[in-house]
Amino acid sequence: MERLTGKTALVTGGSRGIGRAIALRLAAGGARVAVHYASNERAAKETVTAIEAGGGSAFPLRAELGVPGDADTLWKAFDEHADGVDILVNNAGIAGPGRIHEVSEADYDRVFAVNAKAPFFVIQKGLDRLRDGGRIVNISSGVTKVAFPAMTSYAAAKGAVEVLTLTLAQTLGPRGITVNAVSPGTIETDIHPWLADPDARAHAATFSVFDRVGQPDDVADVVAFLASDDSRWVTGQNIDASGGSGLGI
Ligand code: NAP
Repeated sequence: MERLTGKTALVTGGSRGIGRAIALRLAAGGARVAVHYASNERAAKETVTAIEAGGGSAFPLRAELGVPGDADTLWKAFDEHADGVDILVNNAGIAGPGRIHEVSEADYDRVFAVNAKAPFFVIQKGLDRLRDGGRIVNISSGVTKVAFPAMTSYAAAKGAVEVLTLTLAQTLGPRGITVNAVSPGTIETDIHPWLADPDARAHAATFSVFDRVGQPDDVADVVAFLASDDSRWVTGQNIDASGGSGLGI
């Protein structure tokens, strides 16, 4: 288990899915966790309650991302609870289905606003709060590595996040801050309601060499490593957490 005692973490989209698993995992490592959410207050409180039940410390934080002033809103709410952050996990995101000819300008703008622009400005506006020696982990997706035409704008937005990760690793290195991305494959969360169908689920399992659908904990454990001191010599990287999806033909 990492030694995150005394550290403060902010997990965007920590109310549900992968973000909830990350929040629980960082809290189990000793960090105090800001559990960010957009509108699902009940889910955010469930995450906080689960952390506290395990002996950890957490607080919920509401801010709709993808709208003007979103990062300011988020940090203003954060400042009411903590005076600095050590671990920032940009996890909140939305699906963006559509092949190139199916994506409207509004859909494109929304996907980029939540999945690419929001992480950019959450980091920018958080830099004064982020302590030297800190950690930034951006949740990307395996769709940047294997072509996935059914989600064109989503893939492009995640590509932007990965380039941002690389660029900021250079910028923030002198402060001892590492910046990395984690790219999950198909993970069982609310974002994939179609996994409830047994046939679709069985098909999704074949994406991984382990022949199962990924679980949020599979990603959270990788994020926990990147949040810890054990990863101090790793920066600017995109860590695949897809169970070997797309390794062969
Ligand atoms: P999820 O279960 O749908 O949860 C999404 C989380 O993001 C929730 O906490 C939600 O808050 C928050 N969120 C959504 N839109 C938001 C907005 N506009 N402003 C602020 N918060 C917002 O999603 P997930 O599957 O865990 O995905 C988490 C991340 O992993 C995303 O970046 C996604 O692209 C990435 N990813 C997922 C998979 C997968 O297979 N699941 C694969 C690759 C990458 P509320 O609870 O308030 O709605």
